Amino acid sequence: MTYRDYYEILGVPRNATQEEIKRAYRKLALKYHPDRNPGNKEAEEKFKEISEAYEVLSDPEKRALYDRGGHTGLRNSGYRGFEDISDIFRTFSDLFQEFFGFTFEERAHSQKRDGADLSTEIWLDFEDILQDKEVTLELEKWETCEDCQGLGYDIQKGTKGCPQCQGRGRVTYTEGFFRVSYICPECNGRGFTYKEMCVVCGGAGRVKRRKKLKITLPAGVEDGAIFRYPGEGEGGILGGKPGDLYIRVRVKPHPLFRREKNDLYGELKINFVSAILGEELKIPFFGKELEIKIPPGIQPGDKIILKGMGLRDWKTGIVGDLILGIKVELPKEISPKGRELLQALALTENLSKGSLTEINPIIENHSKKRENARRKKESLWERIFGS
Ligand SMILES: [Zn+2]
Ligand SMILES: [Zn+2]
Repeated sequence: MTYRDYYEILGVPRNATQEEIKRAYRKLALKYHPDRNPGNKEAEEKFKEISEAYEVLSDPEKRALYDRGGHTGLRNSGYRGFEDISDIFRTFSDLFQEFFGFTFEERAHSQKRDGADLSTEIWLDFEDILQDKEVTLELEKWETCEDCQGLGYDIQKGTKGCPQCQGRGRVTYTEGFFRVSYICPECNGRGFTYKEMCVVCGGAGRVKRRKKLKITLPAGVEDGAIFRYPGEGEGGILGGKPGDLYIRVRVKPHPLFRREKNDLYGELKINFVSAILGEELKIPFFGKELEIKIPPGIQPGDKIILKGMGLRDWKTGIVGDLILGIKVELPKEISPKGRELLQALALTENLSKGSLTEINPIIENHSKKRENARRKKESLWERIFGS
């Protein structure tokens, strides 16, 4: 693709002032404006060309890039020009207001629009994340009307040129010095009207429907994870693209286990005899049975690590561990017989009556770290979707 020189397009010298550039664009914009040249493709191309030249030369930063590197330098910096005419109207709406005394915003609105993104939350029980979880969502949303493909009229019967604006989309009248133009109320700026309205959507091009969506959430999914489902948001208007659906997964906390990355943390309470002598026990664990070997002489606060009994990382497939902290339960009351036995034991084992001992090292506060991470995620979510 070849590009013409921007200065040449606007007919201004390379050292033109901002005032000169604006004056040149105003003159050309009046000449090639689509409302003055309905249906004229060549004028439309010209209008695009002068608007791009004006956009670049009126912006000191873009102009400097262009002066230094030409079209290539400008394109390499990421500049892409205008997508279509409505893009130009949107960008220069204030300028056109100044030039012509009216804006084109309404016109832009009458053209195709993409559907909005939707967002929702799903709450899972802790048990749900131990394996893949299928969830059926029911969403009420605007969907593109299938009968008219979002156009709002009976497509079998077709369209006709708008009689009120002769297909221009705007109605203009002149009063003294003023030229007043407004969006055509008959065709809503489209330049045509339909012969018959779509009876399914009543002309809106969209219908509100309850839609079911079946999704599978991977095992091990974290609380706060966000999934995007392209095209599952609201339907577009007049051929616009549908929006996306964002689902944020929330996982309810479990009373017995806490998660840290892929590891599960819990506490195992054993009696003091088991702690001294060791024990083998079986405890229920989410439909399975855990076989746990307590080694003799285990101390309160020691940890038993059950390899591979944690959660599967839903991105890497790595499986974490189950880590059980040991709590030793001491009886608060004891029978006279038990009392005798324990006293005999204290004598036999020559147990110390008590002494001062080293203090515990400070244990890192994990829960504080987790809270900070959660807050970071929350604020990201709010930045995307508003609170
Ligand atoms: Zn009209
Ligand atoms: Zn319809």
